[in-house]
Amino acid sequence: MRIAVIGGGIVGIAVTHALLDEGHEVELIDREGPAGGASAGNAGWIAHMDILPLASPKAWAYLPRWMLDPLGPLSIAPAYLPRLLPWLLRFGAASMPGRIAAGSVAIRAINAIALPAWERRLGKLGLEALLRRRGILSVWTNPSDFAAAASLHSRQSALGIPVERLDAAGLRRLEPAFGQTVVGGALYETGVHVADPRLFLETLSAYAWSRGARRTVSEVSDLEPSASGVTLHLASGERRVAERVVLAAGAWSRHLAARSGDRVPLDTERGYNITVAPGSLGLARPVMYEGLGFVTTPLDTGDRIGGSVEFAGLNAPANWARVDAMLSRLKRVLPDVDIGDGVRWMGFRPSTPDSLPVIGAASRNPRIVHAFGHGHYGLTQAAVTADMVAALIAGRQPPVALAPYSPQRF
Ligand SMILES: Cc1cc2nc3c(=O)[nH]c(=O)nc-3n(C[C@H](O)[C@H](O)[C@H](O)COP(=O)(O)OP(=O)(O)OC[C@H]3O[C@@H](n4cnc5c(N)ncnc54)[C@H](O)[C@@H]3O)c2cc1C
Repeated sequence: MRIAVIGGGIVGIAVTHALLDEGHEVELIDREGPAGGASAGNAGWIAHMDILPLASPKAWAYLPRWMLDPLGPLSIAPAYLPRLLPWLLRFGAASMPGRIAAGSVAIRAINAIALPAWERRLGKLGLEALLRRRGILSVWTNPSDFAAAASLHSRQSALGIPVERLDAAGLRRLEPAFGQTVVGGALYETGVHVADPRLFLETLSAYAWSRGARRTVSEVSDLEPSASGVTLHLASGERRVAERVVLAAGAWSRHLAARSGDRVPLDTERGYNITVAPGSLGLARPVMYEGLGFVTTPLDTGDRIGGSVEFAGLNAPANWARVDAMLSRLKRVLPDVDIGDGVRWMGFRPSTPDSLPVIGAASRNPRIVHAFGHGHYGLTQAAVTADMVAALIAGRQPPVALAPYSPQRF
């Protein structure tokens, strides 16, 4: 079939490879070329150990502390609040215990097979060297939060996710750079990160072109059913007719999803980072700083300090003071670190209120398949999403049942 993929982030590129495997003729259309969105600048984690939606007791426990500080880990721009309100109400509903339990099962269903799916994809292309297998650490500065996390670690262990709880001394043996404020940690020894997210995406894109995928740089402004498939209207004035369309435009997918009959409550959690010279932090592995709202990753291209959740929509300018605030929180855990200038970045997570991606056929036209809304887990979940989309288009049983991710669930 002739298939158009809208969006060249990690989801669109992974989908392109999965469709090429099936022998389809694939055209990837991105308004900037690949690497224009969140996938180029994220933290690079294949976070397959994560099992909780954002609307979890853990987030609600931190929320009052976070909301007091306008530059804290989570903020809502006052001017954006009225637009965000419907999303927030759904987020509240997704925080009910039954919904959290179902959401965790649905996150786990994808994350449990996320790493093998990436290993298969990279293995086929001979690109396994893009993965870094150094484990992932979570650390705590608050003893009672660390104690409370024991139940999550038990659940993860029960699910077969290897996790080792470490006291302060054990942690400092592993990562001597941590200061005295760090009181405990959890080591996920199977945690994996990529050499560099931009390099990862650009390499996979280059391989897609060499496998025969066609690349078009233009914005898709509209889509409509036509006799032989779906007609795409490009901002360049051109049109394309495709037999199938995959909508993988990340945080910008809402308008085109609505044109396909699905009103999806997609918003964006803006995230920030700064990347400094490799080795600046003196840490061997990626670290999540629980309660402080940021992570660090020793990428091949530099040490990245990133995170933060800012609700301010797709158009407001970046607030770089958020990066400075993150760096001052970094000082609390790595007091001796002296980092120089770095490259600052802001990106748009494509976020649904229930932290689940939107994967499935469009209401108005089943020739259009949605594949967006991966929030904090787009890199992690892209290879599995691609397998699900390819199976759906082929009429095969997907590797994960589609129901929890249905575009019609809202
Ligand atoms: C600070 C931060 C850290 C993160 N860390 C991690 C992590 O460690 N692990 C993880 O799994 N996830 C992480 N994420 C989340 C992850 O980056 C996203 O979920 C993922 O990148 C989304 O991929 P995507 O392909 O859906 O969207 P994007 O990468 O945003 O790509 C969408 C593409 O669509 C194009 N586009 C949009 N509209 C149109 C249109 N109308 N026509 C044509 N093209 C269009 C854009 O140009 C863009 O290239 C992080 C995110 C942030 C912000």
